[in-house]
Parts: sequence; structure tokens; C-alpha cells
Amino acid sequence: MDGPANSPRTIILLGPPGAGKGTQAKKLVERYGLVQLSTGDLLRAAVKAGTDAGRAADKVMKEGGLVSDEIVIAIVNDRLDAPDVAAGVIFDGFPRTTAQASALDDLLVRKGIALHAAILLEVDDAAMVERISGRFTCAACGEGYHDSFKPLQTPGVCDACGGMEFARRADDTAETVAGRLQAYHAETAPLVAHYDAQGALARVDAMGDIKRITSDLIDVMEATRAPA
Ligand code: AMP
Repeated sequence: MDGPANSPRTIILLGPPGAGKGTQAKKLVERYGLVQLSTGDLLRAAVKAGTDAGRAADKVMKEGGLVSDEIVIAIVNDRLDAPDVAAGVIFDGFPRTTAQASALDDLLVRKGIALHAAILLEVDDAAMVERISGRFTCAACGEGYHDSFKPLQTPGVCDACGGMEFARRADDTAETVAGRLQAYHAETAPLVAHYDAQGALARVDAMGDIKRITSDLIDVMEATRAPA
């Protein structure tokens, strides 16, 4: 089996909110030892810590809009300076605008990192509202659940760690999802053409069984593996 011993890969996961970018990124992290770079997670951490960037991002995130390119690019730039990214990176939720994609192109060149693939998780928009508005995570271990699709086996208790506290994202409401999907189609969908033009785009059908989707992603990862 191929594992972390392989050369590091740099992967972008593209797709609308609810497509499963975070869930699938975690599977690829487990298998390949990559670092998951989620700008949503980094921004939520900045909001919690009350940094200047976090204060600026808070309101926009609650409304389902996009945080400014300046803030997001600065966060990514800093994160890419940490030594752990030498293991390879999976970008989840970044880039989201053409300005971010161009900035990432430059950052990767400057830091000597090669992009292996931008993988588009293809889903039906109509299903995303239900997917997003039912999701929650264990506050202790971060395991993800869904009211309908992946309920707790024992009510109130995390299957993975036994934790009894759970969290729902403040922006995972039916009202906010519509705005987030709109932002995706207006700002992020054009990136498909950006990566297609670079010959880096791959597509995976991301409706249906989570394990089948992971397996299709692994096929893409193997096909894009740098020669030994
Ligand atoms: P996510 O966790 O990827 O769904 O992101 C949650 C929210 O954080 C988004 O709705 C945006 O408000 C903000 N956000 C995350 N990543 C970005 C990004 N690359 N550019 C702009 N805003 C972002």
C-alpha cells in the first residue's frame, strides 16, 4: 500500500460548501500524511482567538460571504511557512476566488512547491442544504456526524471517543447556505477553468457513499503521484 513514504503531494479540493471537502481531506490526511490546510478552520480559530483578522472575518462568515482575499492569502502564506508542510498539503476551501488562485500560483512557485492536482468534488446543489444543515461534530475529537446520514450510534455519545459534547457551526444554517452557494458559483466555480488550463484538474462524483468517494480520490492521487 502506498503511504506517507511517497513523495509529498500538493492537492487542492474544489467544490461547493457541503461537497465533503473537509471530510475527504481528513481521509487523505490519514492515508498520505498530508497537512490539511483549511482556510475555514484557520479563520474560525482566528475568530475564536480574537485576532485582528478574526474580528474582520467574523461578521462576513456569519453572513455566508467571503472573507477578503488579503486576509485569507496572508493566513495561507503564514501557514505555508511552517515546517510540517514539507509532508505535502491538501488545500480545503482555498483558493475561493481567482485572485486567491493567482496568489497561490505565485506562492507555490516562490516556496518551491509543485501542485499535483486540483480535484473538483461534483455534487447537486439541491442536496447541499440538507447535508450542511444536519451536520455536527464531536467537541472533543472532531469526528463529524449528520442528523440523517450519519447519526450517533448511541444518542448523546460520540462513537469515536465517547465525548458527550457536540458543536454545530454558526454558519451551517439553511439561511446562510444559500448565500454560501451563491458565493461559490459567483467566485469559486471559475477556478475550475483556471486549473483545467494548467492541466491540473480532476473531477470526482461526490454524491453517494463516502467510502466510494474516498476510493475515487485515492485513484486520482495515485494517478497524479510524482515519479519516484
Ligand atoms: P468553510 O469552512 O471552508 O466552509 O468556510 C467557512 C467560511 O469561512 C466561508 O463561508 C467564508 O466566509 C470563510 N472562508 C473560508 N475560506 C475562505 C476563502 N478561501 N476565502 C474567503 N473566505 C473564506
